[in-house]
Amino acid sequence: MKQKRFFLSEEDIPRSWYNIAADMPNKPMPMLNPQTLKPVTLDELSQIFCRECSEQELNVTDRWIDIPEPVLEKYRYYRSTPLVRAYGLEKALDTPAHIYFKNESVSPVGSHKLNSALAQAWYCKQEGITNVTTETGAGQWGTALAYSAKVFGLEAAVYQVKISYEQKPYRRSMMQVFGAQVTPSPSMSTRAGKDILTRNPNHQGSLGTAISEAIELARETPERCKYTLGSTMSHVSLHQTIIGLEAEKQMEMAGEYPDEVIACFGGGSNFSGISFPFMRRNLMGEKHTRFIAAEPASCPKLTRGKFCYDFGDEAGYTPLIPMFSLGHDFMPANIHAGGLRYHGAGAIVTQLVKDGYMEGMDINQIEAFDSGMLFARAEGIIPAPESCHAIAATIRRANECKESGESRVLLFNLTGHGLMDMSSYDQYLRGNLINYSLSDGEIEKYTQKLGGL
Ligand SMILES: *Cc1c(COP(=O)(O)O)cnc(C)c1O
Repeated sequence: MKQKRFFLSEEDIPRSWYNIAADMPNKPMPMLNPQTLKPVTLDELSQIFCRECSEQELNVTDRWIDIPEPVLEKYRYYRSTPLVRAYGLEKALDTPAHIYFKNESVSPVGSHKLNSALAQAWYCKQEGITNVTTETGAGQWGTALAYSAKVFGLEAAVYQVKISYEQKPYRRSMMQVFGAQVTPSPSMSTRAGKDILTRNPNHQGSLGTAISEAIELARETPERCKYTLGSTMSHVSLHQTIIGLEAEKQMEMAGEYPDEVIACFGGGSNFSGISFPFMRRNLMGEKHTRFIAAEPASCPKLTRGKFCYDFGDEAGYTPLIPMFSLGHDFMPANIHAGGLRYHGAGAIVTQLVKDGYMEGMDINQIEAFDSGMLFARAEGIIPAPESCHAIAATIRRANECKESGESRVLLFNLTGHGLMDMSSYDQYLRGNLINYSLSDGEIEKYTQKLGGL
């Protein structure tokens, strides 16, 4: 019988993360201090993030960064995650492609987000921080941070995008089970929240606004409270490379190497995580793997965004980040993949897109759910709506392989399970979902204020 799932023994779990910036021919452009328009300094970054993460953020020289032992110990609760050959999906598609997926949904919180949350919480603890704040959309990052804070003995305060707070009550409960304090955003507890509610009392919330609120809270007591971010930043992508580093070894066990690596794209952390270790071989000229970032058609920053300096949040508290962006006040349609409703891409992926090492692919929400349904029936796992975008892109490519008769090796990242998203599946099954398309005029409206680069 052919092997379906591949695992690493505990001692084979990688002990370092991979910092792709060290190998990039063109380094990511620096983040800027919005007041001085000079590159941000370590001290400035450390006012928001913990010191170690700030250092990692600026590190473009060290290729390997050791994973602290206490983080490795917590990784062992769920890692290695399985690499799975999707025989069921291949059969359902009748494709000659070989399809593999890395199953990050087996983490205690149900998604890849824990890989970075554990690292960030540990570094905060080590630096004498007692409180962490963050934002969360669908609740995945908030849950990961809540659990990590509990594990390392920190207090967590989470601002959750209001519409998700209302639509996804079980994620809120999960955060509360792990001991976090959860506030719907925009809230009246911060200046950023108050400003937005004054302008628009029915504001449904956005990740950008929730980030502003969380940063504002952290800034009140910078010596004991730090802000943490679940995507976009380079240090988050760094922590996620554990996914691809494991997958590299597991693909070797399977006796194959991916021709294409596919991941869904919100701010870019899981895409970076599964891709960068393989992209390293492209950068070294050894391989020619294709890298596809599947983003929602309603939030298409990679394929239709502007290359510019923009804020990571709505109120403009973050440094200016070089990004493909739709504008920091972009209001994406209320699609069900909450984790992908973010306006910009991180500095590293932005540079890699510019340099032609990876590409974006737009997926609309009905195609995403169609694909998630097919996957669930073929492989027995109900995927998170975000992950459905990666599955849709994989299915497109597998169908193209069928037409051309090529048996390419496709690897995608299953970022999370959808068991907390059944209300979204319910909407899909009732035929209530619609596709949102953005006209060029709408995109222009949001991006014209941004200075191009
Ligand atoms: C947050 C999230 C994403 C998107 O975030 P990235 O930083 O782009 O990886 C994708 N899938 C799930 C399940 C998520 O929770």
